[in-house]
Amino acid sequence: MPEPCDLLYTRGMNEAAVDILQSLGLQAGATLAGAWGAAGPLATTGATLASRSPTDGALLANVQEATVAEYDQVVADAQAAFAKWRTVPAPVRGGIVREMADEFRKHKAALGRIVTLEVGKIVAEGEGEIQEIIDIADFAVGLSRQLYGKTMHSERPNHRMYEQWQPLGVVGVISAFNFPAAVWAWNALVAAVCGDAIVWKPSRKAPLTAIACHQIAHRVLAKHGHAGLFGLVIGGDSDVGERMLADRRLPLISATGSTRMGRRAAEVVGQRLGRTLLELGGNNAVIVLDDADVDLAVRAILFGAVGTAGQRCTSIRRVIVQRGIAEVLTQRLVAAWQQVRIGDPLDAGTMMGPLIDEGSAVAVRTAIATAQATGAELLCGGTAVPGRGPTFMTPALLRSPRNLPLLREEVFGPMTHIVTVDSLDDAIALQNDSAHGLSSSIFTRDLRAAERFLSAVGSDCGIANVNIGTSGAEIGGAFGGEKDTGGGREAGSDSWKQYMRRQTSTINWSNELPLAQGIVFG
Ligand code: NAD
Repeated sequence: MPEPCDLLYTRGMNEAAVDILQSLGLQAGATLAGAWGAAGPLATTGATLASRSPTDGALLANVQEATVAEYDQVVADAQAAFAKWRTVPAPVRGGIVREMADEFRKHKAALGRIVTLEVGKIVAEGEGEIQEIIDIADFAVGLSRQLYGKTMHSERPNHRMYEQWQPLGVVGVISAFNFPAAVWAWNALVAAVCGDAIVWKPSRKAPLTAIACHQIAHRVLAKHGHAGLFGLVIGGDSDVGERMLADRRLPLISATGSTRMGRRAAEVVGQRLGRTLLELGGNNAVIVLDDADVDLAVRAILFGAVGTAGQRCTSIRRVIVQRGIAEVLTQRLVAAWQQVRIGDPLDAGTMMGPLIDEGSAVAVRTAIATAQATGAELLCGGTAVPGRGPTFMTPALLRSPRNLPLLREEVFGPMTHIVTVDSLDDAIALQNDSAHGLSSSIFTRDLRAAERFLSAVGSDCGIANVNIGTSGAEIGGAFGGEKDTGGGREAGSDSWKQYMRRQTSTINWSNELPLAQGIVFG
């Protein structure tokens, strides 16, 4: 028998959040369905999954996971919804997404609290996730009138040639625990205006956030006769996940998570010649040159390294500092690290909450020990937090030699290396000496140094910033990275093209049949 989940009502819930949870049927003892199709929640029959708060282990919800058969039902519903949705004019689709944005605006604080409870982000960051949903919805609404194709001049007389973008089909979305809401929206809302349906498999570490967000979108779609267009499936990786990767009904799998997961997705989807959009790990560096504004750099590095307890794909893992400023910067960072207020993420004033689970905290501590054993000096942090459970730790700052093997790997938590270099080119070479290529930044007042960092011989990452940190991307730009980060681009710019298929059409309005390349046949 699953434990009753009545703790929701005793901790940190405002009225609006309780309303959302009640509308999900969540009361003491209730178990939520882990799959949603056209009719809403399905009668799922898989194992019970407990969602627990990483802050204190409180049981937040019991979710009954989906089996492969239930997954198949959700995809069938999405296919049926797609058949209708693709005929709806794109600006009308945009109008429905705008209604979703209104709903998310209304419930921003409540949903943000659910994110905080379930994954331990501080309140500002939990609400920030929901703001990202609103921002991408607004973007998608505008986009719905701008799905432009090109017109080309035909080499044949009285012919017209042009391209148009057609909906792709049912898009599979796999998301990571650390952005339990925003990543879904980046994909789902852009794909929706493109005319696609969605089947979402969220992280099993954040099922409640997924259900809460999904049901808001579901209600809007159902009101307009498009129930089932967004499907939700919470299930195991080896059964439901693998079925999803191999499922030929899903022409595109957009997967966010570890590089290990992305490799598997690329392999299985590649076998069936499907498309992947991969947003994987990062090992992001900040370069600080001798002429940098140190105040600015310290603030940005603190937020980038310690925010979300170092559990952002764009978190700062390496600070590469020029020798002349190294000592000053190091002292300032140690002082800043020691002032980080760690505690309950629901409390105003907390800067850093828990890691997602005990296993993550153990992995970070093990990485710190490995770094120390291979030449790094621990400057501060890496310890337990008095009065807090095993998911909490103080953020670690290390002074590391440039040949430390661990410098090349993503450790997913609050662990940051400081490495000293002599020159800009040395810094760029070290920054690029990583398997990942997500985000990067430089702090300098020298225009030439900044431009060199941004040039073809500079950063090899998908994101390269000047005088701001590596994280906190705006949705207007294309987001993603190179190498082991997977090469995908999501959110703004022309990322929408990945959710559509391009069709080139040539129309002959003459009475002749001229052939291209001047070929005369027969
Ligand atoms: P993870 O790889 O453990 O899981 C990610 C998702 O993949 C989960 O939903 C999981 O259930 C699913 N999954 C795993 N194996 C699968 C399989 N065989 N078939 C189908 N689905 C499968 O990652 P995580 O611990 O949740 O997240 C942290 C990682 O994600 C970090 O490496 C982080 O850098 C990365 N991340 C990247 C971005 C980005 O945009 N680049 C954003 C957020 C997180």
